[in-house]
Amino acid sequence: MTSPKREGGPERDEMIIIALDLDGVLHRSLATEWMGERKENKFFYFLPKFESVIRDYPCTRILITSSWRELRALGVLAAFFSEDIRPKILGVTPIHNTGNRIGLRQREVRDWLKEHGLADVCWVSPDDDSRNYLPDAPLIFCEDGFGAAEEKTLRLFLDLQIERVG
Ligand SMILES: [Mg+2]
Repeated sequence: MTSPKREGGPERDEMIIIALDLDGVLHRSLATEWMGERKENKFFYFLPKFESVIRDYPCTRILITSSWRELRALGVLAAFFSEDIRPKILGVTPIHNTGNRIGLRQREVRDWLKEHGLADVCWVSPDDDSRNYLPDAPLIFCEDGFGAAEEKTLRLFLDLQIERVG
């Protein structure tokens, strides 16, 4: 995994961090690995669509917020992604087990950003559970997967942010 400030990477003013959930985003919330299931119900069914956005916007970096981070090391999580996308994964958010459940992931994202000196960097979070964020959060609500509508919303968010900074 690379440092957010590595050479050749985007300047911090240009960087946009995608705080990424997995279940309900990169695959349906009830996805399985089992053979014989419909392919749209498999793990990481929506990953190619998500990665196409990351490739089109070189300023993006990925921060994993999913509960998968509680059971798997960063290297294991990164291995699910394509090889060219892996260097864009900055890390995983810290795990807070205290406080209000509402907005918990938002607090974890903010704490990670603060800890890495990136508190003022733009971020956006695709997630299928709106309770993870407060109403003021840059949430892209995913209706059981990163489908066409979610992709369009993320691309629009990135376009507007790049226009604002540029
Ligand atoms: Mg989820």
